[in-house]
Amino acid sequence: MNHKNFKNIDKVTYGRGSFAQLAQTVEPIRKENFKYFVYVVDNYFKDKPLSKQLQNKPEDLVFYIDVDPHEPTTEQIDTLRDGILSKKGLPSGVIGIGGGSILDIAKALSLMLTNEGSSTLYQGLNLIKNPGLYHLGVPTISGTGAEVSMTAVLTGPEKKLGLKCDWTVFNQVILDPDLISSVPTDWWFYTGMDTYIHCIESHNGIRNNAFSLAYGDQALNLSRKVYLDDGSGQTPENDDILMVASLMGGLSLTYSEVGVCHAVSYGLSKILGTRHCYANCIIFQHLEDIYPQGVGEFKRMIKKHKISLPQGLSKHWSDDTITKMATVSYNLPFMWNHAFGDNYKEIATMDYIKDLFRRL
Ligand code: NAD
Ligand code: ZN
Repeated sequence: MNHKNFKNIDKVTYGRGSFAQLAQTVEPIRKENFKYFVYVVDNYFKDKPLSKQLQNKPEDLVFYIDVDPHEPTTEQIDTLRDGILSKKGLPSGVIGIGGGSILDIAKALSLMLTNEGSSTLYQGLNLIKNPGLYHLGVPTISGTGAEVSMTAVLTGPEKKLGLKCDWTVFNQVILDPDLISSVPTDWWFYTGMDTYIHCIESHNGIRNNAFSLAYGDQALNLSRKVYLDDGSGQTPENDDILMVASLMGGLSLTYSEVGVCHAVSYGLSKILGTRHCYANCIIFQHLEDIYPQGVGEFKRMIKKHKISLPQGLSKHWSDDTITKMATVSYNLPFMWNHAFGDNYKEIATMDYIKDLFRRL
């Protein structure tokens, strides 16, 4: 058994208003390289008050990125990296302000600024050769755990796979619950449910352990406060809690593994471009036989917040599409192994996985 040796975030600032400490936090790093920072900011904030509070200096480069057309791609990172290096040389560091998409862009960019060639070369575990630049993440939507994870998920021409290594993890994260208050209710739900599903999947499999269970139990309790109990809903008090739940859910799966929902979700996202958290919700509702308690509770949360999820999608999918999606999922053996144990190959056959897609 190879025990995980996980690199955590170096430093975390938490609390309402903590975003105002950004400039002082990065000041000591400004002396590095060509003494400027690259900001990647969710385009949503372009005309919002936050765009006036970035605390950037005139020499800094600020990129507003629209994350809605697609999830981060290898090509997008390569183009951004090449443009930055040819314009101003190596920056002191990268600051990402946004959701999972922007956080992954910041992580990937910090690695690709010091590693030659296309990011497609580095999709996988420990393929990155040189340490990346200092990078700081500021989540503005909570749930994916991208703020703490050691992967930057990129969609490439061939695979949807992360740049995964110790250097991917943020040097600094600033968790300011004020920043997530504007998230639309449907995204607040889908993204928060990613945390919930991380914990259910982390718990229900062979890789769970006291470490992953401790983070996961706590994240589940916090998720129930935000989405299920009396007083649940999108309130400032619950935003305080949700930011911590997201981080702890991410830590739970880091010490364990995700399972069936995520394996299927990767297939759906890669082939049809469905967004990660939304895809998880579409799938998880149909996994009652695998995660009975979790799916039961999930359905209660859906009802409570009047969320409607699409049904009958697979009616419109050809056999070829289903095969393509199932192939992506099938090729995630560590998730099936975690979920079904050491004889997972007998359970998670291509036919079984295709049937999971036909449930949707
Ligand atoms: P996102 O970054 O894709 O953003 C979702 C939507 O919310 C966008 O329209 C965005 O503009 C909007 N938004 C963000 N903050 C907002 C705010 N404060 N107010 C209003 N709107 C806001 O969302 P996500 O679900 O956090 O991230 C999904 C991405 O994360 C996917 O690309 C997925 O692959 C990746 N992911 C990464 C990891 C990891 O460990 N690295 C884990 C899970 C998912
Ligand atoms: Zn997830």
